[in-house]
Amino acid sequence: MPSCIICHLKINEHTDSYNSCKNLHFVHNHCLAEWLTHSKSCPLCSEPYSSSLLEQFEEYMDKKEQEKQDALDKEQKKESMKKMQDVANKILFLKSVEKIEGLIEKENYNEAIDLLLDLYEENSIEERGVTVLFLLGKANYLKGRYDLAINFLFKLVKIRYDYPDGFLYLGKAYEHLGLHDKAKWAYERIKETK
Ligand SMILES: [Zn+2]
Ligand SMILES: [Zn+2]
Repeated sequence: MPSCIICHLKINEHTDSYNSCKNLHFVHNHCLAEWLTHSKSCPLCSEPYSSSLLEQFEEYMDKKEQEKQDALDKEQKKESMKKMQDVANKILFLKSVEKIEGLIEKENYNEAIDLLLDLYEENSIEERGVTVLFLLGKANYLKGRYDLAINFLFKLVKIRYDYPDGFLYLGKAYEHLGLHDKAKWAYERIKETK
């Protein structure tokens, strides 16, 4: 008895179950079952396996196919869960921003800044980070902490050059500190970004 063309181990004709293609390339059944999930032809000579041979493995193939489908379904479920979570997070973020803008409007700067610092830690997404940096700059500017405002706004414009409002508050903050050259630079950037 020759050895199996898939695993190259000997086939014991008394104890092993086995099959072969028309050209007598022998294979263990357990090796063939795995192979059939890839191809329906002999791995050595590419001769298509007979339908009577394939029938023996039908149940196994169906089970494999089902397993594949289940894994796919699970993956899709995970994906859509993640998407839903992302949407929920985005809504949560927008609500927080709305609340913070309300606090800034009511000149409740300290509370707004506390919430913003929390948001800044939680949001690694660039778009949200930029929004938070802008509001941190604006709230600190309105509070009269021009140094901190400059700090945050400078971080912002380093990430996003096309943010006119960022440059506007940056310029105003520089002006309050008497840094007129820098203020002029910031105002010029506004024109460039428009
Ligand atoms: Zn084998
Ligand atoms: Zn063959």
